[in-house]
Amino acid sequence: MTNLVVFLGPPGAGKGTQALRISSEFNLAHISTGDMLREHVKELTDLGKIAKSLLDEGKLVPDDLVIQMLTERLSHEDCLGGSILDGFPRTLRQAESLEKISNKFPVKKVIVLEAHQEELTKRILSRGQTSGRSDDTGDSIRVRLEVYKKDTEPLIKFYEDKGILTKINGVGNVDDIYELISKEF
Ligand code: ADP
Repeated sequence: MTNLVVFLGPPGAGKGTQALRISSEFNLAHISTGDMLREHVKELTDLGKIAKSLLDEGKLVPDDLVIQMLTERLSHEDCLGGSILDGFPRTLRQAESLEKISNKFPVKKVIVLEAHQEELTKRILSRGQTSGRSDDTGDSIRVRLEVYKKDTEPLIKFYEDKGILTKINGVGNVDDIYELISKEF
């Protein structure tokens, strides 16, 4: 496992869209913990049964469960050439665990996609009309933005202190934002 790159940013900032493009362009595994959890919910696994109501309410799934899921995922062969983490870590505890999981190949770079609250709410509401995601609705969006501020935003300082963080304005043309991000690779 080499070249871990973390995509950080609030819900609706465009992490998933950009991470997918970058991963195919640079031949990296795209690991979205949100997608993985939604798959568990769909498949009615034990984890999916625990995660369902938390996802619907916009709350985080407990650290231990997500860390275990991610550790297993990173052991797959497709991660050998490097991976983009989209939606992980989301708490300081997850970030600290990631250091242990990937001690030989630490996180190389962290890209933070930034956007203001009104833009995020607007985007998620409009995505909700086609995404079919049960958490793309008013109450859940509010909770997700609050959880981001409280639990995830402190990670910006955590990675800034390590000197590996780059902030990118996530508001604007998707292709222009992609160009800015790809310069970092
Ligand atoms: P968004 O960034 O739009 O909120 P995600 O697909 O990244 O969408 O996440 C959807 C939901 O999945 C989160 O609200 C949370 O419930 C759960 N989730 C995803 N990643 C994590 C994580 N690292 N830790 C805890 N919960 C997570």
